[in-house]
Amino acid sequence: MGRPSIKLKTADEIARMREAGRVVHEVLCKLACAAQPGNTTLELDRLAEDVARKRRARPAFKGYLGFPRSLCASINHEVVHGIPLGNRILAEGDLLKLDFGAVVDGFYGDAAVTVAVGKISRAARRLLEATSEALDAAIAHARAGSRVSDLAAAVQGHVEPRGYSVVREFVGHGIGRALHEPPQVPNFRCAGGADPRLEVGMVLAIEPMVNAGGWKTEVLADRWTAVTADRSLSAHFEHSVAITAAGPEILTAE
Ligand code: MG
Repeated sequence: MGRPSIKLKTADEIARMREAGRVVHEVLCKLACAAQPGNTTLELDRLAEDVARKRRARPAFKGYLGFPRSLCASINHEVVHGIPLGNRILAEGDLLKLDFGAVVDGFYGDAAVTVAVGKISRAARRLLEATSEALDAAIAHARAGSRVSDLAAAVQGHVEPRGYSVVREFVGHGIGRALHEPPQVPNFRCAGGADPRLEVGMVLAIEPMVNAGGWKTEVLADRWTAVTADRSLSAHFEHSVAITAAGPEILTAE
């Protein structure tokens, strides 16, 4: 079939996305500091919204398809889309995934980090580091002329030799005037289907989700929280990245 309608951004549009990205970066930095044992995920959600609003940004996830909060906070075997709750108290050793999106002047930014709550196990630390490195490896391929599958190959090539698996049911995405735009950016190579070539002006939210056990996930009864089917640990890192003539530019950074 025809290629998906990938919207290329002008330099001016990328500059506006950089503003949204900066807010996302600031929010995630503040949340990482606040992710201490005894704090609740709802407190983190409130902090995220406060920081964003002070920067005249709108939290992108709140109300998106009915999502009730500004932040996704997912703990240990939870992969993505955890709903912040007042009775969800962070404990020493938790592996916490923080995923936040912001809209500034009609343009979106989206990023995620995995943080250690207090001291985490060596196994959790290894998974966190491998997933962060996998994102870096994928970003290195985010250049004009690469294909989307090159990003997937970079992620798989980094984590699978370490015994980890890559989530299939959730993927990265284009981003711009909408939170989710074409193309889909899977973290695994899949046979068949579109495999677009990257062009200058594309902006992609690249987001490896990596499990210590098997790749399968399921969604809990709250209809949002995705967990590993085998309840193994999961880690997630994400950046919104512009493909520029000079190479990849991470928009959700300082
Ligand atoms: Mg995303």
